[in-house]
Amino acid sequence: MAYDFDVVVIGAGPGGYVAAIRAAQNGLKVACIEKRGTLGGTCLNVGCIPSKALLHASEKYEEVTSGQLKTYGISIKDVKFDLEDMMSDKNETVKQLTGGIEFLFKKNKVEWIKGYGRFQDAHTLEVEAEDGSKRTVTTRNTIIATGSDVVSLPGVAIDGEIVVSSDQAIALPKVPEHLVVIGGGVIGLELGSVWRRLGAKVTVVEYLDRILPTMDGEVSKEMGRILKKQGMDIKTATKVVAVEVDNKGKKRGAVVRVEPAQGGAAEEIKCDVVLMAIGRRPFLDGLNLDKVGVAVDERGRVKVNHDFSTSVPGIYAIGDAIPGPMLAHKAEDEGVACADNIAGLNGIVNHDVIPSVVYTMPEVASVGKTEEELKAAGVKYKAGKFPFLANSRAKANHDTQGFVKVLADAATDRVLGVHIIGSLAGTMIAQAAQAMEFGASSEDIALTCHAHPTHSEAMKEAAMAAHAKPIHI
Ligand code: FAD
Ligand code: NAD
Repeated sequence: MAYDFDVVVIGAGPGGYVAAIRAAQNGLKVACIEKRGTLGGTCLNVGCIPSKALLHASEKYEEVTSGQLKTYGISIKDVKFDLEDMMSDKNETVKQLTGGIEFLFKKNKVEWIKGYGRFQDAHTLEVEAEDGSKRTVTTRNTIIATGSDVVSLPGVAIDGEIVVSSDQAIALPKVPEHLVVIGGGVIGLELGSVWRRLGAKVTVVEYLDRILPTMDGEVSKEMGRILKKQGMDIKTATKVVAVEVDNKGKKRGAVVRVEPAQGGAAEEIKCDVVLMAIGRRPFLDGLNLDKVGVAVDERGRVKVNHDFSTSVPGIYAIGDAIPGPMLAHKAEDEGVACADNIAGLNGIVNHDVIPSVVYTMPEVASVGKTEEELKAAGVKYKAGKFPFLANSRAKANHDTQGFVKVLADAATDRVLGVHIIGSLAGTMIAQAAQAMEFGASSEDIALTCHAHPTHSEAMKEAAMAAHAKPIHI
């Protein structure tokens, strides 16, 4: 049977647009259905990119206002910022990058079908445009790359003004006086940092006993200390029992009622904005997956096999819509592998080596197993740790917070995990991921020549410390 397309991708986020481009590079006829007015998905429009633009801008502002630059004899008077200008710069970056994907689609002859896609059967998709008009396309293969959406606490509505999600927290019209963040995960700490730097009082309420609970325990403990020192109020082991919104009175805002997670005396926190940041859910709404028989798991994620095929032949799924960390680079790699598999090539993603970065200052970066995971699995390991305080470049830059920790198998020395807190942690983690992908031992890292003076030398020294032979400490 002749189909209109070899591959149709639903969703143009980092998973979907990358899959579409790679499928086209593989010589297939490809379309990508996207309901949003611009390409790039959550990541480019309301996620990674706008949040990083604001993190960068607010970091520059804090660098000046905190007096850090006085160390170098630089003083600047009358420092101010214009929030509208800051937002325009962020919006311009988003516009350029989303436009860039449109250019790449044209270059690779990927057709963008604008509208909401849904299955009619396993090889037929209906696309409803914003004006209500409908188009039906047939396809040999479909990739579900519909991403994820915000979740809220039961009974708490996100109104977009007083109770907001990250979608609005990257575009608040003014700096809140008091921002309460529910959830001490990645979004809470990144966007909490942005608004704290710009002048808001920020209180983070985390249900578990530590922020960044999936990270290495030592790392999350140290980051909690650093962020508190920066002025963030962090309440761990605390549960939100109610959020009461007053959107009519003179002083619009909310009262967040919290109490210790294990029970105890309740406390009221008054604020003008509440950021809901307790995680995201796969977004599969309206796709008619049950009609075509695509199986989902108990957490609403599309079940996939190793090659990203689903329970229905010809239908694949990638990115935030399937199990695994909700990260743009994970979605991208799955997009490439899935498109290669459809073309009969050998597409593989090593889910044991997906780095993850929190773009606070200092940054937090991690790849592989944490100490807690190794202990729970009964794996014998050795740990090498090196603080930036003993790294010459960090010292010269007055940038000494954090450390590098290398975890290696006690018997084979194979690197099992690397965890970093440091201003350049997000960039440095690539080396660790590559080492792990190549099956490196910590000795391999220790014997690799690292340029001096660089922060990366801390990675080498941490690897040397795994053999109890660091030089500079
Ligand atoms: P998405 O990017 O969510 O894209 C899915 C697309 O599908 C959307 O554009 C949606 O409109 C479209 N769609 C859905 N259903 C349909 C349909 N039926 N028909 C047509 N179109 C449809 N990750 C990182 O790695 N680094 C970061 O720094 C980072 N920062 C983030 C900051 C924030 C504030 C947020 C919210 C997320 C961040 N993430 C980050 C996570 C990252 O954005 C996601 O992991 C990534 O976007 C997932 O890619 P995806 O392609 O699976 O889905
Ligand atoms: P998250 O899973 O990172 O953090 C959610 C936090 O909320 C956790 O610490 C959790 O324990 C806590 N929590 C859950 N229920 C709670 C409750 N009832 N009360 C208080 N705390 C509660 O989720 P997120 O920060 O919302 O981010 C969503 C996704 O977006 C994540 O999967 C993340 O990977 C991705 N993201 C990534 C980046 C990045 O890579 N730098 C940045 C932003 C978002």
